[in-house]
Amino acid sequence: MYDYDLLVVGSANADLVIAVERRPAAGETVLGTDLVVHPGGKGANQAVAAARLGARTVLLARVGDDAYGRLLLDSQREAGVDTVGVLVGGAPTGVALITVDPSGDNSIVVSPGANGRLAPEDVRAAGSLFQASRVVSAQLEIPLETVVEVVRNLAADSRFVLNPSPPRPLPAEVLAACDPLIVNEHEARVIAGTAALGDSPESWAKSLLALGPRSVVITLGAEGALVAERAGVRVRVPSVRVDAVDTTGAGDAFTAALAWRLGRGEPLAEAAAYAARVGAAAVTRPGAQESFPTAEEVAYL
Ligand code: ADP
Repeated sequence: MYDYDLLVVGSANADLVIAVERRPAAGETVLGTDLVVHPGGKGANQAVAAARLGARTVLLARVGDDAYGRLLLDSQREAGVDTVGVLVGGAPTGVALITVDPSGDNSIVVSPGANGRLAPEDVRAAGSLFQASRVVSAQLEIPLETVVEVVRNLAADSRFVLNPSPPRPLPAEVLAACDPLIVNEHEARVIAGTAALGDSPESWAKSLLALGPRSVVITLGAEGALVAERAGVRVRVPSVRVDAVDTTGAGDAFTAALAWRLGRGEPLAEAAAYAARVGAAAVTRPGAQESFPTAEEVAYL
């Protein structure tokens, strides 16, 4: 009855990466390595992660009418994502300028570009995609009023999954739609705001549930995740032991996998256990989209 397992509404960025010996001070110029350009942005990453697992996936996003926009469309299509919802134009494609120093620390400047122009009317105009999708997933690299419009356009029996990254306080209307709200510790603290968080993931989950989401998943890096539902269910999901090479995109792969499995009717804890395997597989390879596994690779992990 649904044409798509997952509709991702979110950002698409070109990540421009240069390694440097040290960062330039104000007024200074330093030389770096050759430029490497990767397709990125949380929305684009989630869509690629889901499609690579085999989910029928469609992306609602906005890119510029430029070479980076075409790079992003190509990487989506290569992964099998339906790009019918990718709007083109209005501003240059979003870009992240990333310098990496020898210790591996990143300095990043983001120009949201076209992501900042993904507007509530774009969501309303994509009504047929919402009606055709079992699960809808969003993040916060697009305007908050656009995310508000997303929750107002959900089909009656579809499910909404939100990873509020980068985090900011959320209106009650958005929180109430989340099933689940997926956060790491930092995001949990920002979303909770003045609400006391306590010092265990269980207590963070309790405080977050009090804000209205139907369920909460807290990702804990190499420690796995915690699942918490309104009904009182609290389940620790262990991580899979792997040699971590690069954790970039692990959260996006986790969220995409979780959303897809929920759409297949799995209970939240089971879907999170599968997502933890997908997140673990993603950290064994460098990069974001390049590191996302197929279902077969997850099975053999
Ligand atoms: P975020 O990038 O949003 O902070 P995390 O780093 O918590 O998200 O990663 C998301 C999920 O990916 C984790 O819940 C876990 O299942 C998996 N994961 C992340 N890092 C590792 C790791 N070092 N070893 C195994 N699994 C990991």
